[in-house]
Amino acid sequence: MPKYIFVAGGVMSGIGKGVATASIAKILQSKGFKVTAVKIDPYVNVDAGTMNPIEHGEVFVTSDGTECDQDVGNYERFINQDLTTNNYITTGRVYQAVINRERNLEYCGKCVEVVPHIPEEVISRIKKAARLARADFVLTEIGGTVGEYQNSLFLEAARMMRLNNPKDVLFVLISYLPVPSIIGEMKSKPTQQAVRWLNMAGIQPDIIIARSVIAIDGPRKKKISIFCNVSEKDVIAAPDVKSIYEVPLNFEKDRLGDRILKKFGLRPKKGADFKDWHRLVKIFKTVKKPVKIGIVGKYFETGNFVLTDSYISVIEAVKHAAWFYKRKPEIHWLSSEQFENVSRRSEKRSRAINELKNYDGIIVPGGFGSRGVEGKIKAIEFCRKKKIPYLGLCFGLQLAVIEFARNVCKMKGAHTTEIAKNSKYPVIDVMSEQKVLLSEKKYGGTMRLGDYKCRIMPHTIAVKAYGVTSTLERHRHRYEVNNEFRDKLEKKGLIVSGLNPERNLVEIIELKNHPFFAACQFHPEFKSRPLSPHPLFREFIKAAAKRR
Ligand code: GLN
Repeated sequence: MPKYIFVAGGVMSGIGKGVATASIAKILQSKGFKVTAVKIDPYVNVDAGTMNPIEHGEVFVTSDGTECDQDVGNYERFINQDLTTNNYITTGRVYQAVINRERNLEYCGKCVEVVPHIPEEVISRIKKAARLARADFVLTEIGGTVGEYQNSLFLEAARMMRLNNPKDVLFVLISYLPVPSIIGEMKSKPTQQAVRWLNMAGIQPDIIIARSVIAIDGPRKKKISIFCNVSEKDVIAAPDVKSIYEVPLNFEKDRLGDRILKKFGLRPKKGADFKDWHRLVKIFKTVKKPVKIGIVGKYFETGNFVLTDSYISVIEAVKHAAWFYKRKPEIHWLSSEQFENVSRRSEKRSRAINELKNYDGIIVPGGFGSRGVEGKIKAIEFCRKKKIPYLGLCFGLQLAVIEFARNVCKMKGAHTTEIAKNSKYPVIDVMSEQKVLLSEKKYGGTMRLGDYKCRIMPHTIAVKAYGVTSTLERHRHRYEVNNEFRDKLEKKGLIVSGLNPERNLVEIIELKNHPFFAACQFHPEFKSRPLSPHPLFREFIKAAAKRR
């Protein structure tokens, strides 16, 4: 019988529930147990593919092509496992399933009610995830903050689950303890109130993880213990840390793993440990030599804040690769619009574009739509000509092909039909099946998603990186290199180093006589793991480190 651990957040959002959930899973895994994790996203959207990336962050794609919340990416990176559609639940998915069942008379003519039928559907999904993963432990993260209306049905599911299996269900609250600068003291009242909210939902937390700028001290642990009805030992310190990968080690300082096992009456299994992880943390805490990477994109600025959450997997992939080469990753966000008005003539004088020289490597990540595109193309041209290591991801491949077509093959106005429908040189074009889907307005979950094969050509950067001639990579796109133009592009020196064998689609391109110029139609960032960086990121960082 698997054990279920629910993780909910109190006081405010953005305190790292996803990382905490991933860390608990990691700790239990290090004690020899089989774990899996489920993210509950309270949005009515069926999946994250149709959500606003500025509000919701990155759309993470699993191997089976599920567009989900970025936390699923954190789970994969921490527990080093490929997750599936069964690890992601939204309000939309739950209601859609219940309504479909009702339409099929599967409730046998009963009245279908929000309670219990919605929580029951949630429970059956969590149990299915456990079954499929054959997990000893299932971590379920309930999105949002306790006390809000939107996630109450998920708390209800947790309560019902505990009611039926009191010995197999545990509840963790991640809370935040502010230290207001004028008071200079860590305050526990908001956490007390969060626990009241949980109590009103019929739930008593077993463990409280106390997020704060510094580690919670003894007197405050005691206070939380008395007011929130948990043992002092179950108040776990969770101070701000430099890197998310430190979090599990920090939780273990307060023996979180043992506390959890004790509550379930279990003991750690032999043979498992945390050694690799300790080694990783040691590396990133001690490395000094930087590698300076610029990421060129849009959406970085909203008001006074820079929102980089939309590229979280790219950031993590850069870090993994940099640590592999014992480098300190320094990531800079470059808004592509600043390169937009640089004409060929003014190039020499333009500070913005020339500043790209100060980077060891440039990435153009995935993207949609026309904003900032010309700036990205300018940046790519600069990297090509000035021999700056370049890695293009999805849109970053498409724009590199457009740049090459325009400036090397002299196809004036070459473009993608995503932006210029009537371009004379549509070097990037919509895939035929996508054209049909778009004309029928079938947008949700219909891109070319998830794992597809990529055959890798000999004597290329790609084969050097991968060390094999075939691989699977995760996709999320509707447009592709137009095979009608491939000959022309290749004749002028564009190397197609990765191809999808089934459909003859371009997967990787690269250039010769350049320290590193490669781009892929897929998203390698989704497959990078802290202890096994993705081959393309690794080679890119290697070249970047060399440039420095
Ligand atoms: N907009 C492009 C397409 O749909 C690229 C997508 C992406 O970068 N994920 O093909």
